[in-house]
Amino acid sequence: MVTMHDSSGRHIHYLRISVTDRCNLRCRYCMPETGVSFIPHEDVLSYEEIVRLAGIAASLGVDRIRLTGGEPLVRKGLPSLVSALKSVKGIRFVGLTTNGILLGEQAHALKDAGLDAVNISIDTLDADRYTANTRRPELARALAGLDAALAAGIGSVKVNCVLSPDSLPDDWLAVAGLAKRYPADVRFIEWMPLAGEQRPEGRADEARAMIQDTYGQLEPAASESDGGPARLSSLPGFLGKIGFIEAMSRAFCDRCNRLRLTAAGDLKLCLFYDVGVALKPLLRSGADDAIIRAAIEQAIAVKPRAHQGVQLRREAAASEPVIASVRGMYQTGG
Ligand code: SAM
Ligand code: SF4
Repeated sequence: MVTMHDSSGRHIHYLRISVTDRCNLRCRYCMPETGVSFIPHEDVLSYEEIVRLAGIAASLGVDRIRLTGGEPLVRKGLPSLVSALKSVKGIRFVGLTTNGILLGEQAHALKDAGLDAVNISIDTLDADRYTANTRRPELARALAGLDAALAAGIGSVKVNCVLSPDSLPDDWLAVAGLAKRYPADVRFIEWMPLAGEQRPEGRADEARAMIQDTYGQLEPAASESDGGPARLSSLPGFLGKIGFIEAMSRAFCDRCNRLRLTAAGDLKLCLFYDVGVALKPLLRSGADDAIIRAAIEQAIAVKPRAHQGVQLRREAAASEPVIASVRGMYQTGG
């Protein structure tokens, strides 16, 4: 089996693919309410192009894929993409990150297509606050999506909750409580300033303390079985684990194993840098697999060693290949 390492010696084997920059929510920390200019449809990679790139990445040692967005389930026929990716030689895992709203309708088809895992983003269980945070009154459908994913028997179901600067401890406690009722890990993700905001203090320690005060001692548990970056703990009487993804307060760059493919076909090497390679021009100009493979290898060679929690744009990487600047997670693919 081929394995791929970057110049810092990290084993790179995980590809996150954004299938769209469109979304049925407008989360305040991710996307503006209005005035968003979406990638024109013809500039979004087709499923055939995505599957071809996945095959080339797999030939370089990528064995895990996660589909994301924007909201991946707003793109038509996502189960067909899942099943095509599951058939790519070398791909052992295909997961999905979603806000869950359309999972009620699609969970069974996704399971039948071979989806291995789903992460559902729910930041609060308070309907009014959910509506205020996401600018859409969709909490009930997101929770129905969680039920549907579990009922469909998708192998791993997790909940993601972002610790944004204005999120409230009451919300964290309620969302943590989902892991008591459901066999689903709940992971708290430190908010990252990806649109040029001020670098915040990470809030994982604050959330950890609140959760312990309410639910009891968090006991360190084994790391995520799918190689995810969360530090997991168990709580007495809980079916799922509680995890923290401390991208700001304890960055895990030394363990970073991932690449990101944007919906427009840019291979991005780190959330905080513009360094990468535009693969769509190669795909659409008839480049053969060997040329695309070489472009990916060259890009990986300049994968940034670490981020400092602030956006480092072209000036900081003048000698390196650059791709289009992006301003929010919905554009990069979270
Ligand atoms: N729409 C899907 C969803 O919300 O799960 C997939 C895309 S979304 C960009 C992926 C994840 O990124 C979500 O869990 C979301 O909460 C998180 N996210 C968005 N902006 C973020 C930021 N600035 N810092 C940390 N996480 C962020
Ligand atoms: Fe949409 Fe996900 Fe961004 Fe919310 S976090 S606006 S659901 S892409």
